[in-house]
Amino acid sequence: MGRLTEGIQKFQAEVVPGRREQLAALASSQDPKVLIVACADSRVDPSLITQTDPGDIFVIRNAGNVVPPADAANNGSAASIEFAVKALNVEEIIVCGHSDCGAVKGALAPEGLTSLPHVAAWLEHVTPALSGLGEGPSVDAAVEANVLQQIEHLRSFDFIRDAVENRGLVLSGWVYDVGTGAVRVSDGGDFTPISA
Ligand code: ZN
Repeated sequence: MGRLTEGIQKFQAEVVPGRREQLAALASSQDPKVLIVACADSRVDPSLITQTDPGDIFVIRNAGNVVPPADAANNGSAASIEFAVKALNVEEIIVCGHSDCGAVKGALAPEGLTSLPHVAAWLEHVTPALSGLGEGPSVDAAVEANVLQQIEHLRSFDFIRDAVENRGLVLSGWVYDVGTGAVRVSDGGDFTPISA
């Protein structure tokens, strides 16, 4: 933990002094325009990828950037999504998958998950994404399909469909390439690169 403590000390000494005004403005309210649902993977950093500041993006992270559907039990993600859409009135929800995603690889090879029962149960929300991919799909194809599957799960919530139809809430998918920093984007169809 020493490295993290040193990081906090460096933050207090070197970063906070230059951001006092910005941080003070956030002390009692937030107004993010975007909700990002990203993977818990240590290599995925939504703020770094998007070069955003505190207050800019509302973020949910879990294994596999999953959105359990509206009828799922114990749906903790639903509370954060509901707050972002109905209380913060975000204008866009982005489901952000990534290359080499362990959760997606686990869903592709569930026989390897016998010692990880919680993971296996969670990845049942990923499995439907794989059904249309044929035999032996690539991880990249499965990652893209999973992003689109989770967008479909977003649409299973009445309040999200309502926000899409009545106030223009946008639902998008991204795939972040860990090794290159590239991002591919989809509005429901094929993924295309966001160029520099
Ligand atoms: Zn992942």
